[in-house]
Amino acid sequence: MNGLRNFMMGRYGTDQLTLALLILGMIFTFIGDALEFNSLITLTYIIFLTCIFRIMSKNILARQKENYKFLEYWNPIKSWSKGKYNIIKSSKNYKYIKCPNCKQKLRVPRGKGKILVTCKNCNTKFIAKS
Ligand SMILES: [Zn+2]
Repeated sequence: MNGLRNFMMGRYGTDQLTLALLILGMIFTFIGDALEFNSLITLTYIIFLTCIFRIMSKNILARQKENYKFLEYWNPIKSWSKGKYNIIKSSKNYKYIKCPNCKQKLRVPRGKGKILVTCKNCNTKFIAKS
């Protein structure tokens, strides 16, 4: 283990971008294998070699910059999908409606019949089916 630690000293190691590339590479491997799509498999080799290069790299600043760029794109996607997931998860107990005045999305309990909703944003009161 000591030899490996010495070997990895001063090297960049893994980050979110490398992890994402690894997952992408694995997905491509499965698809390429299933469809016998050879150019996709070649692409996975390039992806995996890029991963190894990034992990072994001693140019830490450059790798951090790459990861930062990646996160700039990735974080909005992540929070967007997390929001969608929460809506799906809570859709059994809650219903999402839009305020007729300001179009603000509002969450109301499901299965309570007709209810009076007050918009959090503009205080408009309206009747909605839950
Ligand atoms: Zn409103």
